[in-house]
Amino acid sequence: MSVKVVKFGGSSLADAGQIKKAAAIIKSDADRRYVVPSAPGKRFSDDIKVTDMLYAAYEKAALGEDFTADFDNIKKRYNDIIADLGLDLSLDKQFEQIKNNLAHAGREYAASRGEYLNGIVIAAYLGYTFIDAADVIVFSDEGVMQRHETVAKLRERLANEEHAVIPGFYGKSVSGVVRTFSRGGSDVTGSLVARAVHASVYENWTDVSGILVADPRVVADPIVIPVITYKELRELSYMGFSVLHEDAIFPVRTAGIPINIRNTNAPEDDGTMIVPDSDTGDDAALRTLTGIAGKKGFCAINMEKGMMNSEIGFVRDVLNVFADLGINVEHMPSGIDTLSIIADAASLEGKQEQLLSELRKAVEPDHLEIEPDIALLAVVGRGMRKTRGTAARIFAALAHGRINVKMIDQGSSELNVIVGVNEHDLHQAIRCIYDAFISSTLN
Ligand code: ASP
Repeated sequence: MSVKVVKFGGSSLADAGQIKKAAAIIKSDADRRYVVPSAPGKRFSDDIKVTDMLYAAYEKAALGEDFTADFDNIKKRYNDIIADLGLDLSLDKQFEQIKNNLAHAGREYAASRGEYLNGIVIAAYLGYTFIDAADVIVFSDEGVMQRHETVAKLRERLANEEHAVIPGFYGKSVSGVVRTFSRGGSDVTGSLVARAVHASVYENWTDVSGILVADPRVVADPIVIPVITYKELRELSYMGFSVLHEDAIFPVRTAGIPINIRNTNAPEDDGTMIVPDSDTGDDAALRTLTGIAGKKGFCAINMEKGMMNSEIGFVRDVLNVFADLGINVEHMPSGIDTLSIIADAASLEGKQEQLLSELRKAVEPDHLEIEPDIALLAVVGRGMRKTRGTAARIFAALAHGRINVKMIDQGSSELNVIVGVNEHDLHQAIRCIYDAFISSTLN
């Protein structure tokens, strides 16, 4: 029998109505045996997530200020859920203990209680075993999650549990202190549980029907990506797609377990499948373009020198200057006598003059300048490898939109084309490419 691990995000568990939807989803498939909940999230747009309420209560407690009202609001969130679910459950003992510990057990302990309490409620509602994540998710004393130990503990603990709820976001350090992942870290817990039980799929339930081809703030009503590989996702995430917590990828990716992003409010939608690179069963129907992402905040350091191409060691000397100043090189497009380095503008702050003078010393360029306000656009798609004319389509679309292209970089994997444009052209560039590759095929 295959096993599915299901993680529900905060908006999927924000109140009793949402929890009922999640429970119906869980119970509709016998393979959905292990559940990883987040803390209750926002019920409406200006609502406050329980995790944020806990951080705020902790700040007051740590300063010795009165946090009773804040804590009462948190209690009310859970008590309303319990009442609306019709559960015979009291969290009074836990509330008392958390309140007493709040000031001294640390900020991460405080934040973790959102998932802890929600886990107890959801386990009671489903009739599943509650497993405290502190007993199975292991952190070092420095706060780094210990993957091998964690997976081994989870595997052992879950071996005889038919069904269980393991709250997301936190664990315990070797010396017994509750630690959390960074924000959004319940995704990581879900991934670890999936890895531990050799899940056939890790379902990540949220409030959108999958990963969109482009940012909906830039493109109106973008379509959902049905299947994306881990490599493609990495390219898009690097350029600003925020889908999952970054650390959630590794545990499942290395075990070849797919992730399915699903919508709790529209469970009939298939969502997006994130699959290992070798496992794209949809290739017949594959679009050339999987996704488009863009990011502002880069600059180009442009160098020109006659006969640069025959000067052995030129590029090495340039890169040494960047390395010595601790500036990360993002891309390096070159011509015969020109070389540009694209770097994150923030990493150059306060170092510009020094960078220019070190470069002059190291390679004596004829011309050297820093060009600010560059945005990078990643056009990603595993289908590019098989399709001729993709580059022509991209640049025709940009030319049509009167967008000046400053740089082009195609990785050897032929998985993506990176294009540098002026920051103020970025959104228009994304729209042009979306129209050329997607809108045109929908009409
Ligand atoms: N509740 C935590 C947060 O708001 C963790 C999570 O939801 O994944 O960041």
